[in-house]
Amino acid sequence: MDAKRVVVITGGSSGIGRAVGLRLSGPDTKIYFNHCDPDDSNCEETVELIKAAGGSAWGGRVDVASQSNVQNFFKKIIEESGRMDVLVNNAGITIDGLLVRMKEKDWDRVLNINLKGAFHCIQAVAKVMMKQRAGRIINMASVVGVMGNAGQANYVASKAGLIGLTKTAARELASRGITVNAIAPGFIDTAMTAGLPEKAKEAMLAQIPMGRIGQPEDVAEVVAFLASEKASYITGQVIHVNGGMYM
Ligand code: NAP
Repeated sequence: MDAKRVVVITGGSSGIGRAVGLRLSGPDTKIYFNHCDPDDSNCEETVELIKAAGGSAWGGRVDVASQSNVQNFFKKIIEESGRMDVLVNNAGITIDGLLVRMKEKDWDRVLNINLKGAFHCIQAVAKVMMKQRAGRIINMASVVGVMGNAGQANYVASKAGLIGLTKTAARELASRGITVNAIAPGFIDTAMTAGLPEKAKEAMLAQIPMGRIGQPEDVAEVVAFLASEKASYITGQVIHVNGGMYM
């Protein structure tokens, strides 16, 4: 068992999760992350990138929608390291469509990953963090969870739910020295947004006073702050990272 700071990032194989892993890694930190797709190439590449930057990481396939998979994942981490310092609930997907045509299975899959997945992970870490009387939980919400967005009823509901979960967990865990916050990114340059039609991208950009798409590193920097000792008096908050898209 080593005494390194333990950071767990769900959906850490690409995009924002990968940037968070790279930003939080270092010689005194062990990064654990998961992903879900049967193709492990992004996961392997992320482990190598973190190692090349001087950190250490373990990445593997764990579907956050499955409570038993999540429990086994955290059991392994806690047995290996004996502690749990930072949880970043970042795993998320979109399956877009207009509300009137949305299939129940698409509603369920998005809610099960984006919202229930975070619930599973918070439950899995809470007891250890409570015993430590310290911990940081950071949930990746979205600007649309506050604004709403046509064509994303399932995704928006999951992110609005995540904000409610953040505030409740913050209230329940504050007395044990655990902070729980949400970050609400705007329009960020990752695989999730790469597939949007050009017209939709242009419409998004037109809503951003800073006139540029955000980078995963813009979000990772805020995660690093919330995960640090310097943020010890901040809990239950939603921090917007969106170039002014929503004020
Ligand atoms: P991304 O590059 O597609 O990353 C999503 C990550 O989640 C991947 O590592 C993916 O791995 C993982 N994942 C998906 N389903 C999973 C599951 N069932 N269990 C475990 N991991 C799973 O997208 P991103 O933009 O970085 O998104 C990261 C988070 O930021 C999401 O919660 C997203 O909603 C949020 N966000 C993004 C934006 C944006 O503009 N990009 C804006 C606001 C909020 P596999 O592909 O291997 O499954």
